[in-house]
Amino acid sequence: KEKERLASLTGPGRTADGHDVPLLLNVGGVGDLTEDAEGVGLFRTEFLFLDRTSAPGVDEQQRVYTELFAALGERKIVVRTLDAGADKPLPFLGLAEEDNPALGVRGLRVARVDRSVLTDQLTAIAGAAAATEAEVWVMAPMVATPAEAAEFAEAVRAAGLPVAGAMVEVPAAAMRANRLLEVVDFVSIGTNDLSQYTMAADRMNGDLADLLDPWQPAVLELVFNCADAGRAVGKSVGICGEAAGDPLLALVFAGMGITSLSMSAASVPAVRAALAAHTLAECERLAAVALDAPDAATARQRVADGAHT
Ligand code: PEP
Ligand code: MG
Repeated sequence: KEKERLASLTGPGRTADGHDVPLLLNVGGVGDLTEDAEGVGLFRTEFLFLDRTSAPGVDEQQRVYTELFAALGERKIVVRTLDAGADKPLPFLGLAEEDNPALGVRGLRVARVDRSVLTDQLTAIAGAAAATEAEVWVMAPMVATPAEAAEFAEAVRAAGLPVAGAMVEVPAAAMRANRLLEVVDFVSIGTNDLSQYTMAADRMNGDLADLLDPWQPAVLELVFNCADAGRAVGKSVGICGEAAGDPLLALVFAGMGITSLSMSAASVPAVRAALAAHTLAECERLAAVALDAPDAATARQRVADGAHT
């Protein structure tokens, strides 16, 4: 037992019976990487664009991306294109002020107003990918429709990048995951925003934490719908919201058929240990228990009772 516990402190994400669930990192830059990470499941590129009066040029971006990709060797990195909007305003985008920025021009929608920010970023990512060995995937934030996903995928491929995906953060995208997966190579679920938009509860409003809970049955059902759609066509469906770092939810997600979990480095050891202590069949049973629960608190309690910790 002790030997098993120690072995599970390092190495890849894997259930007790050897089913792989890669544990990837959410990073904002090269400083967030760890030695033993299996790869990066979410590279938030916002930091490059903040506190500036003009957009960073292709060359500057390419230098930053190249440094990060090179540090990964041959490992995978999922790059998210700029997720800005009136909630994270960037002066050079010239976006109008909005009464309701969370529901406004943010994420991929910024390309409606100014397409050059997206195309420059894709050019820089492609240049860095060509100069390094890393396996580079690119995805867009705040996708709502398959048409948006298709247009993004076309831009990614036009830049010479082979793998294009969409984040699932909007309930409409989760409900239509099967259609999204007809036009992109993978999806990654952002449970922070997906919970916010499903429950209509501002993610910054602590008073609504009970609603914002990713254990909410409606959120779990949407995640399951995505996993199911991915399984049907053999495409990756990952999770890169904070929920992926909750060891009990990680078991539920693995049981649903989610193919990778991306989280901050601090969350990896506990998730790795939880997976190592359960078989895939046990995870599937816990997923069924969670999906069957009448509310978030009951789901969490029943899965905690059913898991061996
Ligand atoms: C999310 O919404 O879950 C996500 C991963 O993106 P961010 O937290 O950067 O909005
Ligand atoms: Mg988000």
